Amino acid sequence: MAAQPVSVLITGANRGLGLEMVKQMMEPPSQVRKLFACCRNPHGPKTEALQTLAKKHPKIISVIRLDVTDLCSIKQAAPLVGSLVGTGGLNLLINNAGILAKGNLQDTSPEDMQSAFNTNVMGPMNVIKEFLPHLRAAVKASGMPGMSCNKAAVVNISSVMASMESLKQSYASLPAISYRISKAALNMLTLCASEELKEDGILFSVLHPGWVRTDMGGEEADIAAPESVQGILRVMASLTEKHNGAFLDYKGKTVPW
Ligand code: NDP
Repeated sequence: MAAQPVSVLITGANRGLGLEMVKQMMEPPSQVRKLFACCRNPHGPKTEALQTLAKKHPKIISVIRLDVTDLCSIKQAAPLVGSLVGTGGLNLLINNAGILAKGNLQDTSPEDMQSAFNTNVMGPMNVIKEFLPHLRAAVKASGMPGMSCNKAAVVNISSVMASMESLKQSYASLPAISYRISKAALNMLTLCASEELKEDGILFSVLHPGWVRTDMGGEEADIAAPESVQGILRVMASLTEKHNGAFLDYKGKTVPW
């Protein structure tokens, strides 16, 4: 397997795909030594599985409060993570937290739209901005040429539902316009960041995890979370500067914008 990140931060790490990422990063051949598992309610009932994992790996996992819609919590988490990673910086930031509302144009309220934007777009944007110094520190510490997830990278978890080219095949079964529009905006955010920060050596990519059996994906989904996350980790390990600004699925296939 390609070289792997040493320090990783995941948002929405208490259930679904985020929790599965934490699990798999604690198994061989993972090289992760510092894992910041962020969630909005570290001591809530939906965080028990994550806390159990953290107790098993106390030297590696730090459970950190971070609500992506609350800029104060992001601003509190960033220096805390900075003090724990030190000059080695943060290698990999995974913007995984997300919400989905199913409504179509006629039944989506302004509030639904605002919530989707706050969580799926403004959240990742604020997280990227606040953690940028630690990603830059990782570039400086690595001394390696090129781009990769073991140097400094941001992976934004998006969805094929943001794909304009494939909209016609899926719209009738699940309109979810606030989700589609906000994830399309997340894709554009990723592309903008990939251009703006390419000289800094930080890689930005968008990944679609597949249709996965989680609370969001539902029981009818195609694949289970372990299969999706095995694919995501494989794809992340394979990313290079060629993939800066790429939109890939969990098998590494390019998704059309
Ligand atoms: P789940 O609904 O199972 O989990 C969502 C996670 O996001 C939870 O940990 C939740 O925390 C967290 N979250 C939601 N809002 C916030 C917030 N404001 N601050 C911090 N955390 C928050 O979803 P999945 O695991 O399935 O989805 C993970 C990502 O994958 C999402 O970005 C989703 O859009 C994407 N995706 C999923 C697909 C699927 O089929 N499952 C398909 C395509 C993309 P809490 O417990 O506090 O609510």
